[in-house]
Amino acid sequence: NGLVVSLGIDFGTSGARAIALSSTGQILAQTQQAFDSKSAADPQGWQQVLWQLLADLPQDVRQQLQGIAINGTSATVLLCDRAGNPLTAPLLYNDARGGVGLDELENIAPEGSPALSATSSLAKALWWQRHLPAEPLSQARYLLHQADWLSAQLHSQWGISDYHNALKLGYDVAERRYPDWLLALPIANWLPTVKVPGSKIAPILPEISRRLDLPATCQVYAGTTDSIAAFLASGAQRPGEAVTSLGSTLVLKLLSPCPVNDSATGVYSHRLGDLWLAGGASNSGGAVLKQFFPDSQLSHLSQQIDLSQPCPYDYYPLPQPGERFPVNDPAYAPRLTPRPDSDVAFLYGLLDGIARIEATGYRLLQRLGAPAVQRVYTAGGGAQNWVWQELRSRHLRVPVCPAGATEAAYGTARLAQSGDSLYL
Ligand code: ADP
Repeated sequence: NGLVVSLGIDFGTSGARAIALSSTGQILAQTQQAFDSKSAADPQGWQQVLWQLLADLPQDVRQQLQGIAINGTSATVLLCDRAGNPLTAPLLYNDARGGVGLDELENIAPEGSPALSATSSLAKALWWQRHLPAEPLSQARYLLHQADWLSAQLHSQWGISDYHNALKLGYDVAERRYPDWLLALPIANWLPTVKVPGSKIAPILPEISRRLDLPATCQVYAGTTDSIAAFLASGAQRPGEAVTSLGSTLVLKLLSPCPVNDSATGVYSHRLGDLWLAGGASNSGGAVLKQFFPDSQLSHLSQQIDLSQPCPYDYYPLPQPGERFPVNDPAYAPRLTPRPDSDVAFLYGLLDGIARIEATGYRLLQRLGAPAVQRVYTAGGGAQNWVWQELRSRHLRVPVCPAGATEAAYGTARLAQSGDSLYL
């Protein structure tokens, strides 16, 4: 019946999900798979999860699929031979072993480069180059991110990435090329070709079209990372619109007409078409609330907060000493005293403290060159707390609302649908 169906597939930290979206933005089907302890870190496990997510879609949805895009966790990488076979176990997003070579990296990568971190894709590539034995190292041909490798299962064009995944590899997204310092490294011949997220790569393989009953014309589009995908799901569209993620940590993302970067506070920008997505992450967030209150009490206690009374406390909630953004101080001490007898009053102090950090964070992004925040969408466990939303709106002095959708798979389905024109 001519319906255009796009599929977004999200490989996250604990499982994977697929969402099929119609051209009018309606969710037609969703499938999901939890990882067991083995499949989370095993490419063969990922592959099986991928086939299962597709096979579980209703047949009529499968038969109308026109486009597929995949997001993976940022900086989860694989080293592969020329046929795309992994030569060793993947290094996952949070693996920090590459940090041992960071001093050396600091001498070659410019200050502020998103590749300058212990968990970056580049740090991992260099670790492999130094630590893998001559065999299999001699067969290494492609350094691929999780999303690159999974997409290639569908189209078999190896060595293709996108500029969201490639940011932590050191790719220069403004110039759209690998910088010379990177091309001079011994890993240069592993580097993938970098495409615009959402741009066309190739149709699915005929064998996959037959096996899964997908149209032979179904295209695979370049993917993205899980956190950008969650941003794409939110509904934020114009410069000045932002998404705050209130999960275990507090993550700010603000659409800007220009990139803003600050290595001291860990601020960097992803490219989104003609716009930029500036982001910063505080160590404050829901993890602190969790130290004091189970989730089951949070909404009940929040409802008893009297917002007509100003909050008398000046807390800086942190789960342990150390802050990066908006204050850069590895020894920064949490401020959680004086603690009142009343749980409601204490929670008011915590929520108010986190809300002030959020407002300070957006002001810092503005000072660094981003526009003033105009509207904030909210994702994560704290997004459904209406009292907190009102409190945050007062500190931010702009409207705050829940994100339109929060599933990364939804954002990636939008990418497969609108392609590289999403922010043009
Ligand atoms: P993660 O970053 O771990 O994926 P989630 O997005 O699942 O986190 O959010 C979990 C966090 O949300 C917990 O730290 C919890 O304290 C917080 N949270 C859960 N319910 C509420 C609530 N009603 N109000 C504020 N925070 C909440």
